[in-house]
Amino acid sequence: MIIKLKNSVENHQIEELKKHLIDKGFEIHESFGKSTVILGVIGDTTTIDANSLYAYEYIDTVLRVQEPFKKVNRKFKPDDTVVDVSGIKIGGKNIVVIAGPCAVESKEQIEEITPIVKQAGASILRGGAFKPRTSPYSFQGLEHKGLEILKEAKDKYKMPVVSEIMSVDDIDSFVKNVDLIQVGARNMQNFALLKELGKIDKPILLKRGISSTIEEWLMSAEYILAGGNTNVILCERGIRTYETSTRNTLDISSIPVIKKLTHLPIIVDPSHAAGRWEYVESLSLAAIAAGADGLIIEVHQNPEMALSDGQQSLKPEKFIKLVEKAKKIAEAMNRTLI
Ligand code: PEP
Ligand code: MN
Repeated sequence: MIIKLKNSVENHQIEELKKHLIDKGFEIHESFGKSTVILGVIGDTTTIDANSLYAYEYIDTVLRVQEPFKKVNRKFKPDDTVVDVSGIKIGGKNIVVIAGPCAVESKEQIEEITPIVKQAGASILRGGAFKPRTSPYSFQGLEHKGLEILKEAKDKYKMPVVSEIMSVDDIDSFVKNVDLIQVGARNMQNFALLKELGKIDKPILLKRGISSTIEEWLMSAEYILAGGNTNVILCERGIRTYETSTRNTLDISSIPVIKKLTHLPIIVDPSHAAGRWEYVESLSLAAIAAGADGLIIEVHQNPEMALSDGQQSLKPEKFIKLVEKAKKIAEAMNRTLI
């Protein structure tokens, strides 16, 4: 349930109403927007008689929320959430580009690619240290050593880093070494992991599950916010459909739908959606035109030799050209690629 208060409401009145509801066993989510104050009431609100609430003269509107997601719901918080990733603000007016290899393969590889993607316009470095591979015989990542390599690059090139977590056991190590913790598509409904990530305040990049609906995806984000961590960025990375020409089907329509349903920022991963480097540029430009807040793109200095996802990784010169075009689309959308 949402209670919208009149603009003239005073602080002591807000406190009075909150106390009344908390005493009845509800949890209150407050949102102080530019022009409105909204109290989100979480719990079994069927026991509340909405009409009787109008006895409070400073209540403007009482609305029942049909959706099962509450804290991520835009009705609970109309203003966009801007997530600060070590100084890089995702959401709002900015378009943020995250780039780097699928996997951290060696110190030399990361040392070489980091200044290249930074110079090209990326503001966050990506690199998988723990890789969720379909085959147990494929390269599984450098694991903790990989996180250390990312941390060294972060310090040396002053560039925040993002990497994928696969186990609850590694949370401390991720908190220490990375700026943004990625939950991959395969772990979107790993509820034990989501609950633990709700207890920290490090930003989380929550990818959409391989065959997940938007509602399931938002319910996963709700797990993290329910635990107290409001720093969540969503990532559309394509979903499984009957189409086989691309690795996945980029659900472009998820961008305006997400913008309508939630206040959380959304970025797009065209690399895992396309599965082929030659489609990455088109999908990136389309994503920005559709209103995405950023991109996460796989770039490798030598894709033919990459230990994972070489077929979808851009060579640096292609990435540089893509960012130039993306800047123009961003401008047309009245936004700034930072
Ligand atoms: C990745 O980003 O390297 C990755 C494995 O992505 P996804 O979880 O979207 O497949
Ligand atoms: Mn990959």
